[in-house]
Amino acid sequence: MISESEFKEEVLSFFQRVPQLLEEIEDPFERERTFIAACYDSNLGALNYPVEDGGRGLEQRFIDIFRQELRNQNSFSIGNAFGVGIGFCLPTIRDHGSEEIRKRFLKPGLRGEEMWCQLYSEPGAGSDLAGLTTRAELDGDEWVVSGQKVWTSGASVADLGILLARTNWDVPKHQGISMLILPMNQDGVEVRPLKQMTGTSSFNEVFMDNAKIPASWVVGSQGDGWRMAVALLSHERSSLGAGGGRQPLSVNDLIALAQESGVNADPLVRQLLADLFSGSQIITWLNLRSGIHPSIGKLWRTKQGRAASKVASKLAFPGGVAWQGEPLGSSETNRWAYGICDSPAHSLGGGTDEVQKNTLGERVLGLPREPAVDIDIPFSEVRKN
Ligand SMILES: Cc1cc2nc3c(=O)[nH]c(=O)nc-3n(C[C@H](O)[C@H](O)[C@H](O)COP(=O)(O)OP(=O)(O)OC[C@H]3O[C@@H](n4cnc5c(N)ncnc54)[C@H](O)[C@@H]3O)c2cc1C
Repeated sequence: MISESEFKEEVLSFFQRVPQLLEEIEDPFERERTFIAACYDSNLGALNYPVEDGGRGLEQRFIDIFRQELRNQNSFSIGNAFGVGIGFCLPTIRDHGSEEIRKRFLKPGLRGEEMWCQLYSEPGAGSDLAGLTTRAELDGDEWVVSGQKVWTSGASVADLGILLARTNWDVPKHQGISMLILPMNQDGVEVRPLKQMTGTSSFNEVFMDNAKIPASWVVGSQGDGWRMAVALLSHERSSLGAGGGRQPLSVNDLIALAQESGVNADPLVRQLLADLFSGSQIITWLNLRSGIHPSIGKLWRTKQGRAASKVASKLAFPGGVAWQGEPLGSSETNRWAYGICDSPAHSLGGGTDEVQKNTLGERVLGLPREPAVDIDIPFSEVRKN
């Protein structure tokens, strides 16, 4: 068994080789893909996956070491684009997928050869996710899927989608859902990007019209999709809480902005920056504790994201919220505007703040469950809009 210090040395020696690997690759997306493949090929990409699934079978503390060293490197990271697959879809397949689908999907996903998106939210089912109405029916050796998803991050570039669909309408809403794996590049799937106030289109609408899925591409078993959905959400919230997904504006950058603007001696500004610095320390320390509920880390990250964008709007005012020409986020001058316009997303993606608080109230504090009128009746009898 490898010791923590031996492992750290191995990681550091790998990181030393990375700059050479990425030397001639300019496109940020391809750099990330190459980095991910190199991690996997160096036996560092599937640390907590079973050996029989191509992994290393190591405990969480080794992942923490890897993540810490990765954070210490400023030149490469695993960001948003591959985060949905590596952060939440693949761990769910690892834990609940049949041998056939583990063999088919884990390695290409972990090497960054296939990109994933998460097909959960619908126009009528966001926080009330179990009310989803996308329909999947088994027809011979394939599922036929029709319905609409929305806010699907990365769908326009994804090869595969982890899909929640209703496969039984005659049982209560949580019991009739299955988790399926949808190939995105097919005639029955249409992806329409949604324009956000940042000017970018990171998420999309996805329309499925008789889309096809092989019969065996079910994660868990038919009808057990709600349990799978919760398992995946727990990976998603842990991953977001631990620093995956969209990043809050950095405290160090805001301190530098205060210095450049000559307001760093103002006691009110110092207080705002001190609060932000404390927030970022709390997140770091929270992530060092094992066994905390994933919603706690996620709530802290969103609180920090919103607070950082408020401070940025004060410090960069009036230019911080005004920009011209080039797309937001693409240059030094408009990155404050991007951070400010993007910050509401922190509180929504991965489940809203209110929903995280409900979850913590019910599952951690043991408060009474929210009243619900539709959880015991067949979904086909539930009144819908
Ligand atoms: C940046 C971003 C990325 C996203 N990426 C994806 C993705 O890749 N895949 C995907 O499937 N979805 C994605 N989403 C969708 C996201 O999960 C939903 O927006 C979220 O779950 C809320 O659902 P909704 O938008 O339908 O709002 P609603 O559920 O309609 O909620 C509206 C408001 O009511 C509040 N509310 C609702 N129910 C309760 C309750 N029981 N108690 C208290 N308050 C309540 C909510 O907190 C919210 O403020 C993304 C969203 C964003 C912003």
